[in-house]
Amino acid sequence: MKFIQLSETCYYFESAVNIGYIKSGESGMLIDAGLDRQAAKKVISQLEKNELPLTHLFITHAHADHYGGASYIQEQLAVYTFASKEEAAILRNPVLEPLYLFHGALPLPELRNKFLEGPPIAVDEEVTEGTYWFGEQSFECIALPGHSLMQMGVLSDGILYAADSYFGAEQLFKHKIPYIIDAEETLHSLNRLLELNAAGAVPGHGAFEASFKDTVKVNASYHLKVLDSLEKKLTPSGIPFDEVIQSMCEEYDVAAERLSSWLLYRTAITAYLTKLIKEEKVEFIIRDAMLFVRSKN
Ligand SMILES: [Zn+2]
Repeated sequence: MKFIQLSETCYYFESAVNIGYIKSGESGMLIDAGLDRQAAKKVISQLEKNELPLTHLFITHAHADHYGGASYIQEQLAVYTFASKEEAAILRNPVLEPLYLFHGALPLPELRNKFLEGPPIAVDEEVTEGTYWFGEQSFECIALPGHSLMQMGVLSDGILYAADSYFGAEQLFKHKIPYIIDAEETLHSLNRLLELNAAGAVPGHGAFEASFKDTVKVNASYHLKVLDSLEKKLTPSGIPFDEVIQSMCEEYDVAAERLSSWLLYRTAITAYLTKLIKEEKVEFIIRDAMLFVRSKN
């Protein structure tokens, strides 16, 4: 895990899931905590080696790869933790993630793994969009919903920690069908990123880029492409929702062999469909106790 300095006060740990770090006088804040205690251990020891303080923790959103290491950090150090109110509900009750993925039924044991459910953590302060302080320095919380209910980005010293509002191009293409919960909000958040004044950005997955807005545009057009291919599959007579999932997975060469990955793709495809439904292009119908998707044109 490489520790990279981006400005006088901003750094990040480059990893499969990036972890940000901001120094502010005698204080230091991590942005996200990695998947598990191993990741968190490495972060703590790197900071110690560099004689950098760790007093605060900011969790951008309640996906286990971003907060799974947080409980270990809270056990080891007295950190003051920020998260949005919506994400805090899950951080305090992490079973909610496999629960919502599993249609609200109590999730099977195989879904209660470290990729879908991290250990619960305490959140000291619930944030909304705006300016917050830690140590001697302020930072901006930027609401970037769409990938999760109320994901927050952090902007400080000209560096944006963008969480999973966009992916590095390589990661985006690797995901094939990116995980989102709302396509409209996802596109809206990407537009917000294009308007921001920042010297560069770190996504949750991918490298820091000064020219991050080019990658943001690649993300936006990718989402539009997914929407378009989804819309093209639908017919006025309607097709079973499960067939829509199957057909999208086939087109995007997604294996979705395990229940957990199938549920993640199902959620993302639903999130694209709901945009088409809001635009009144598509509707859900129930026929013989089966869910169908039908185009309205
Ligand atoms: Zn995420």
